[in-house]
Amino acid sequence: MSHWKGVESSSTFCCVQCRLLQPPTTTCVECAAPMTAPVELVRELLYYRDMQIGNHRDWAMVTAFLAGSSLAIPVLAPLAIGSMVAFAVGKFRARQQRRGIVGIDMPQAAAAVGSTTIYGVARRFRSTVTSILDDAPVLVEHAVVKDRAGAVLLRRCEAAPFLLEIEGSGPVLITGVARVTGANALAQRFKVVRGDPRLGRMGVPADLAVTGELEVTSVTVDRADLAITGMMEEESVVELAFHRDGGRIPVMRGRIGAPVIVADRRLIAAGL
Ligand SMILES: [Zn+2]
Repeated sequence: MSHWKGVESSSTFCCVQCRLLQPPTTTCVECAAPMTAPVELVRELLYYRDMQIGNHRDWAMVTAFLAGSSLAIPVLAPLAIGSMVAFAVGKFRARQQRRGIVGIDMPQAAAAVGSTTIYGVARRFRSTVTSILDDAPVLVEHAVVKDRAGAVLLRRCEAAPFLLEIEGSGPVLITGVARVTGANALAQRFKVVRGDPRLGRMGVPADLAVTGELEVTSVTVDRADLAITGMMEEESVVELAFHRDGGRIPVMRGRIGAPVIVADRRLIAAGL
């Protein structure tokens, strides 16, 4: 592995709680858990289903322990966090009997209290994101690696701000943290093994043992029948200032711990 590769991959953080890969952050953008650190650092923790680390202080201790390996033990042991270190050490010993990352149930996405759902067609705003599948420009893409039993190993969600065009009214700007939900008939599924270039584009380290199914749901430009759930606010948008009142339009902005939920309207209507 080249030096450059190492630098590049270390910029991917992973939430141990919901398995979301994301840019460097102190809390997970989707679930707000503090258990988020460089994926290389926390990879050992992905071999366990029941990680429960309640607060930032304990998490800081665990990541310090992981970063320093065994050198951290004599430093931390005299402090009042012995149980946490013992917990971590016990986990690593148990890990030796395991072969792969333990999958989790798909985390429930929680929209902000007081959210509403709007329906419409996705229109390009100022940018797109690049699909991990074929470099195509898309507005939102949720990629999930599942094991053979269907449990979630790792996820990634990329979203560009986009306009939702609603029949009979003006557009709503959809921006911020997004999460695609629902069994989606339009999801594409591929068998993947360790080292697959699509996993690399997700930010999965090439040597991490993830084998199973890659499920990718993309919202393409001009995609119809979307159902978006979030808090409706109003903001001034510079790009729209020339053809709207001061550029003020309704906005749904996904925030840390309260993402905008993106779903397929037809599946909601069918009760799925
Ligand atoms: Zn999370």
